[in-house]
Amino acid sequence: MKFTVLTLFPEQVRNFLETSITGRALNKGVFSLETVQIRDFSGNAYRKVDDTMFGGGTGMLMMCEPVYSAWKSVAEPAATLASNLDSTVIHDAPAHPHTIFLSPKGKVFDQGKAIELSKYEHLVLLCGHYEGIDQRVLETIVDEEISIGDYVLTGGEMAACVLIDAISRMIPGVLPDSSAYEEESHMGGVLESPQYTKPEKWRDKSVPAILLSGHHAKIKEWKRQASLYETWMKRPDLLDKLSISREDWEVLINWREENTRNSLDSDDRLTVDHNDDQIIDQSIG
Ligand code: SAH
Repeated sequence: MKFTVLTLFPEQVRNFLETSITGRALNKGVFSLETVQIRDFSGNAYRKVDDTMFGGGTGMLMMCEPVYSAWKSVAEPAATLASNLDSTVIHDAPAHPHTIFLSPKGKVFDQGKAIELSKYEHLVLLCGHYEGIDQRVLETIVDEEISIGDYVLTGGEMAACVLIDAISRMIPGVLPDSSAYEEESHMGGVLESPQYTKPEKWRDKSVPAILLSGHHAKIKEWKRQASLYETWMKRPDLLDKLSISREDWEVLINWREENTRNSLDSDDRLTVDHNDDQIIDQSIG
């Protein structure tokens, strides 16, 4: 898989992605990264790529032509290559590589989107800077706008890195094996169960005994329930999309009672809220 990032700050993208796990995967050639300096396509001696806005407003906006020329420099060779693959066969090779604009106006990125995008052979990621980019070039080249959250960054580079990091983890060979990500948070619509490493006892805290039992089936069941519990406590909104059985709810409520009792022992200011039947009835209808 190949990622092309169109940016005014290629070193920001490279510094991040050439480090650690993604850096090793790049070295091994598991995926490739191309950065294109939009300023190289300014078409003027001052390498100017932005200007003031029509209709007023503070700040500068990136102009159409440098962005378009930078995009064309990667999109056209890719399209030509695709159409030359076999000129006798009519195939639905895209006219250009899938092009994403990183933008606070886009649909918010999530794990489902990362999986979907990992199926492309080539993604082009366009990063805005300053006040953003002239609307006309966006309408011409962009297939989708993606945001990494409801806040505004100074540029799209960090957002492009977030996408590439999350997408590349889905490519075989980036992580040691697929189980490394299959059990992780958000993969099955739930958060991952809590995790523990050595030592078995740290200060007054022990690792849950079941994890030391060596009983694989029981451990698997504990992880499944712990994962549901973690999701209920931290992201209850995610549970709305799942159907949880009455038995599972009963286990979860027991866990919560046990945890509440444990924290009451250490903090008697906590209060317990008893509307469990209502929780079960509402959630399993
Ligand atoms: N004036 C724009 C914000 C420009 S911020 C607006 O109000 O919509 C400059 C650039 O940073 C954007 O063009 C975009 O590429 C990037 N950016 C800012 N916030 C982002 C976010 N939440 N997700 C992805 N990219 C973002």
